[in-house]
Amino acid sequence: MTELIERSGKATHQETRAHNSRLVLSTIYDRGPISRADVARLTGLTRTTVSDVVGELIRDGLAREIGRGPSTGGKAPILLEVTDDARHLVGLDLGEKAFRGAIVDLRGEVVSAIEVPVDDRDGDVAIDRVFRLVDRLLATTDRPILGIGIGTAGLIDTTVGTVLQAVNLDWRDVPLGALLRARTGLPVYVANDSQATALAEHVFGGPRTSNLIVVKVGEGIGAGLVLGGRLFQGDGFGAGEIGHMTVCPGGTLCRCGRLGCLETVASSRAIVASLAGTGIANLDEAVAALRAGDERVRAVVEAAGRELGLAVAWLVGTLNVERVLLVGSVAEFGEPWLAAVRETMQSSALALITQDTTVEIGRLHDDAVVLGASALLMTRELGLSLAGLPSEVAADVAEVPSAGVAAEASA
Ligand SMILES: [Zn+2]
Repeated sequence: MTELIERSGKATHQETRAHNSRLVLSTIYDRGPISRADVARLTGLTRTTVSDVVGELIRDGLAREIGRGPSTGGKAPILLEVTDDARHLVGLDLGEKAFRGAIVDLRGEVVSAIEVPVDDRDGDVAIDRVFRLVDRLLATTDRPILGIGIGTAGLIDTTVGTVLQAVNLDWRDVPLGALLRARTGLPVYVANDSQATALAEHVFGGPRTSNLIVVKVGEGIGAGLVLGGRLFQGDGFGAGEIGHMTVCPGGTLCRCGRLGCLETVASSRAIVASLAGTGIANLDEAVAALRAGDERVRAVVEAAGRELGLAVAWLVGTLNVERVLLVGSVAEFGEPWLAAVRETMQSSALALITQDTTVEIGRLHDDAVVLGASALLMTRELGLSLAGLPSEVAADVAEVPSAGVAAEASA
């Protein structure tokens, strides 16, 4: 495919160089330490092209030589690897109760993090908070900054970074990406928080599988879908927006203005509302009461788990994805809730499909959205974040790199 682009004449010289650079960098990132000859063999590029590109990457500080590998007869080859802290990234999670920001290196290691509580999340105030958080984070690093990745609840047009609608933040058509780009001069990518979490669990949460469903359950509910190794967003960025599907026609009024949405029966708000009159006022108190053996809380939490289990069954029945992860503040309830979700999922879809499906709590916890937003940024800006993909998927990506990058980037 690379050769094809080189021959076709359709790509400009500059495009071809950028394409080759991404291909070589992602190969060193995935397979390093690796020799130039092996990069050439894996990418199908000529040795001369690889040497030129590697020279540029070394000059840019993105790759480095780390000594000689074992000899296979002749002179031992010099090995290359990506310099993990050659660039730092800013990752933001505009969460329910707090805005969390982190400086992250090219391997997804959090270098520093800042969290600010959010009480007033009204439009302009919230945007000002985001600006100040970014300023504070940028002041903590002297490395070149690759860009800013943001995960936030709601329907996001990721091509321009505009929050089309965030029920929980009371945002509508907020051009967050454009505002931050204008202010910092950096590339900015904005993604839905559930989708960002799915990407993070896929890239950094191991074990790597081609398909993955991540359901985030907090005040809001949303799913992120990784299909065929890539984040699937649907035709209008709304894939996985299950929180406002009607599950109880004529039910409780939802914040979106309609009745009986999934969020009205399975979210943290729904659980706390169901405990009215028990003296339990918030989710933390409910989690503590459950751990202390409170049977009323247990019954409410299991009922919420069953409602969620039905929604998960629909996703599993539709997509036949065998790995489902649950994340978000409601996952703090742990086993009784997880068991209710699992049992309902198992009994509400075709057994042949659900018998091989596992439902577990996600692994990345607090950093998931930040890491997902960072992964999105790395994919878009450098063509990275494909590390550790099963070899057949990696080979597919290597063959059609530009298409692969575009698909994931439209995240
Ligand atoms: Zn709703």
